[in-house]
Amino acid sequence: MKIEDIINEIERIAPPALQEDYDNSGLITGSKLDNVEKALLCLDSTEEVVQEAIDKGCGLIIAHHPIIFKGLKKINGSNYVERAIIKAIKNNIAIYACHTNIDNVLKSGVNGKIADKLNLHNRRILRPMSGKLLKLSVFVPVSHTQEVLNALFAAGAGHIGNYDECSFAVSGSGTFRAGEGAQPFVGKEGERHTQQEEKVEVILPNYILGTVLQQLNVHHPYEEVAYEVYELKNQWLETGSGLIGELENALSVDEFLAFLKDKMELKGIRYTKSGSSTIKKVALCGGAGSFLIGDALRAGADAYVTGDVKYHEFFDAENRLMVCDIGHYESEKFTIPLFAEILSVKFPNFATIFANTNTNPVNYY
Ligand SMILES: [Zn+2]
Repeated sequence: MKIEDIINEIERIAPPALQEDYDNSGLITGSKLDNVEKALLCLDSTEEVVQEAIDKGCGLIIAHHPIIFKGLKKINGSNYVERAIIKAIKNNIAIYACHTNIDNVLKSGVNGKIADKLNLHNRRILRPMSGKLLKLSVFVPVSHTQEVLNALFAAGAGHIGNYDECSFAVSGSGTFRAGEGAQPFVGKEGERHTQQEEKVEVILPNYILGTVLQQLNVHHPYEEVAYEVYELKNQWLETGSGLIGELENALSVDEFLAFLKDKMELKGIRYTKSGSSTIKKVALCGGAGSFLIGDALRAGADAYVTGDVKYHEFFDAENRLMVCDIGHYESEKFTIPLFAEILSVKFPNFATIFANTNTNPVNYY
């Protein structure tokens, strides 16, 4: 199977435009045009994992964390990143990483997977993204409104929450005068024409604007399509950091800790005092999530499950929120089967293998 097809399927769920500015998700080594028979799935594409891919005949590694996170000026094997890259390239192993773009989606993302494990209901993003949504307004002759709408929807515009094909149209009359050399769809050269039109409006994420405009131009009958695009202040509630939801039944603090330990298959939990005697509303963020402690507090969460919390950051919970640090690796380990689940829907016969190599650098005694 072509690597490009595998990447496209993952990025249909986790568009690369949703990754954070500091991130480096994407194809790190190899060519997207290469064919592979199997993929090895992991959190970290370390040198040991590259060796495992070689041993198992996997031409592609799909990792959560990008092994190259910041710029490399030399690649001579002086550290674990360079050694992994050298080994991958020498052995024609492609490494692809899907990191914060799969953290930042509500459905089928890293946090959704943790929420599945904890069986959380009424889920929403804890800190939704802003500055990602656009409004497109286009003036269409009434005869072509449906065709244009179909094209805009097919290109991905018009999604709001669990709804698609969302639009608004208002009727009015437009005027234009075709100049020399014009080939107007209606009206005559040199004469003002009045046309019954609809102003059609749809919402869309900014990263699909190019595709949407291209399809608009293909399906709109006018030679010169009149349209406006403007940025919205709206938050995009389906994308962003962290997740909050509710347990099916409220649990006592001890019950919740036992439940969390069991469901996430943990060896230990570092936690702060709870502000209440029961836990019902649970916020979470896979990986290093201390930056969301304030958001979890404001959202009224009883507990916040994440990893990599530092000593002083535990104080930020003000003893009102039970911060549970379950470990970075532990919070994200179910991302590995998540990649397999995403791919199995479209490519049921493509082999995905979970890496045996445990890349967690942290041990417990
Ligand atoms: Zn992580």
